[in-house]
Amino acid sequence: MPDSPQFGLLGHPLGHSLSAPLHRRLFKLRGVAGGYRLLDTAPEDFEAALPALRALGGFNVTIPYKQRIIPCLDSLSEKARVYGAVNTVENRGGKWVGHNTDAEGFLRALGAADIPLSGRVLLCGAGGAASMMAFEAAAHGCRLIVAARDREKAAALCQRVAERFPAADTSPAALAQVQTLPGDFDLILNATPVGMFPRPEGCPVSAAVVRRAKAVFDAVYNPAETVLLREAAAAGAKTQGGLPMLVWQAAAAQEIWSGFAFDPGDIARLCEEADGLFAESETPTAIP
Ligand code: NAP
Repeated sequence: MPDSPQFGLLGHPLGHSLSAPLHRRLFKLRGVAGGYRLLDTAPEDFEAALPALRALGGFNVTIPYKQRIIPCLDSLSEKARVYGAVNTVENRGGKWVGHNTDAEGFLRALGAADIPLSGRVLLCGAGGAASMMAFEAAAHGCRLIVAARDREKAAALCQRVAERFPAADTSPAALAQVQTLPGDFDLILNATPVGMFPRPEGCPVSAAVVRRAKAVFDAVYNPAETVLLREAAAAGAKTQGGLPMLVWQAAAAQEIWSGFAFDPGDIARLCEEADGLFAESETPTAIP
């Protein structure tokens, strides 16, 4: 690998991304010179973009390619295979190995806020991030309700979880109907983009539902404090936002690429300062 290994983020549209300044801070923590570029690639250019990626030490993958990249890889880690989604590609001597570090980011972020992944969990969304959270919740023995705007998609995710964890307690719901569900929630997880810039006024569930939760995690990281988190904090719930998840998944990607082990205290400090990344966010560059 060259002295200044190059990495990047494959996705579309990338808009203003925090990934480049985040990875630069991680390179600095490791004391290495590394480059990280935003490789915004339109769907019709996907195949043509792949040869240039071979020159990279590795790359991250985001919407809409977390599934599409899989047939292009030589092998998959266990978690990437289970989730059916890849967010990190390792260039292992010319062979591409697909990984998924979102789960590590998610679990570390919950841990940092002292939020247990246990009990009765309401998961909003049934896409990529929601799938990861659903599998992790089932693996942790949670009683899981998956709520999506299309109840059929929630049911399909519950079915996939049940195939992997036959004893899992899962049930689907329509997001618009969750206020009719009886009882309280130990944890609400938001894995939809509702509340995200440029429509930060959104909230995936009503304030009345939020008030029934002991803890809330929102995968949205822009803004750092969403309406959902604000309402949950006002109701006395423990809260955690998506920025720490973003930081921890990026650190895990660099660990895969380099074999380096970060000091968890350094990453925790980076999470605390992560708000500052917004001022340094970058727009994409063209693939050479
Ligand atoms: P995705 O695969 O596109 O899934 C999005 C999910 O949200 C789908 O279930 C979708 O439903 C639902 N949804 C979209 N718009 C909605 C709306 N207006 N009302 C209700 N539901 C809606 O995306 P993803 O990768 O899972 O990402 C979801 C969110 O998590 C995004 O905000 C993303 O930025 C965030 N995320 C954060 C991190 C982190 O590190 N913090 C990592 C990954 C993702 P349909 O299928 O009906 O469209």
